[in-house]
Amino acid sequence: MQWRLRTNSLKIPREGYFPLKLSNKQRRAIELARTIAKTSKAHYKHGALLVNGGSIINLAVNSDEYCRFSSRFNKNSFYPASRHAEIAACLNQPASATGGATLYVVRVRKDGSLGMSKPCEVCQGAMEFLGIRKVYYSEADGSISEMKIGGSR
Ligand SMILES: [Zn+2]
Repeated sequence: MQWRLRTNSLKIPREGYFPLKLSNKQRRAIELARTIAKTSKAHYKHGALLVNGGSIINLAVNSDEYCRFSSRFNKNSFYPASRHAEIAACLNQPASATGGATLYVVRVRKDGSLGMSKPCEVCQGAMEFLGIRKVYYSEADGSISEMKIGGSR
């Protein structure tokens, strides 16, 4: 029997990507984000938690409504920026809450499984402006990845 390399099952390392070991607290944050994501009225349902100093500061879901704040970071103005969950969790929060904070953002599918929720470029720009340090997000395969915001800070 000949062994074949299943290349489509390989994780190709890319910058900032590595298999994550999440603490129980982080797993609970992901589960909470998944639970609230189900309440989103948008077609693709995302939920996010804003965590700072070990405390949950805010939680939010995405909305198809126009987001004026996010639009400031929208370089491709062809698509109006809607209110993505990770930014919705930061809206109306003081700088002390978003500075150095961590966001958890997931997409939940109809069957309850996690889907792709990697922050888009608009949200990345907004998060950098807000001083967010790190984002944990769900991948299409249901795993969790980490993204550092703002370069080496
Ligand atoms: Zn976004």
